[in-house]
Amino acid sequence: MRVVLATHNPHKVAEFQQIVSLTRPDLEIVAYDGPEPVEDGVTFAENALLKARAASTHTGLAALADDSGICVDVLGGSPGVFSAYWAGQKKDAAANLELLLDQLHDIADPHRSAHFTSTIALVVPGGAEHVVEGIWPGRLAHAASGAGGFGYDPIFIPDGQPSGEERSVGEFSAEEKQTQSHRARAFAELVPLLAAL
Ligand code: IMP
Repeated sequence: MRVVLATHNPHKVAEFQQIVSLTRPDLEIVAYDGPEPVEDGVTFAENALLKARAASTHTGLAALADDSGICVDVLGGSPGVFSAYWAGQKKDAAANLELLLDQLHDIADPHRSAHFTSTIALVVPGGAEHVVEGIWPGRLAHAASGAGGFGYDPIFIPDGQPSGEERSVGEFSAEEKQTQSHRARAFAELVPLLAAL
């Protein structure tokens, strides 16, 4: 089955392709290169639906879109839907990460809890729409480490790691990230819906 993935973010395309090859190798993920809608939703679900609807309408295929971000508890869930633009409209990943570290400069570990969210919309020609969500809990590091992944990965330390050996996602292998991430968790929710298509 072919499904179009409504994102122009090459990191997300690569991650989805890895997740799919680990769990649903029969699925062909095609990157979408048509017009992108303005992401003016105020929730992950609204933005994911905007993107998936546009791609499905433009291609006539079933379309998936992920809207994702990092949510920091002490900031009331921000950056959230503003994760890509936290330091301004330039979508500068390094500046976003530095600003977030700066804002939490004086905040101690017990108050640095955060999570990544991935909300995936599936829009099928003819009108059926589904939204699923994956959450990856953890906390913010005090400094960036590792060169893997993208975006906020170098400052996000997922929960559940052996104490004393905790690493940021920037230090994870691609396979570690793709089996544990918010995107992988959301995709797992999507598998039965795709199977029913
Ligand atoms: P979107 O493309 O509008 O969904 O923006 C997502 C933004 O959230 C990205 O630009 C990153 O800043 C952040 N983000 C989402 N997923 C990840 C991830 O897996 N690792 C690191 N940052 C992420």
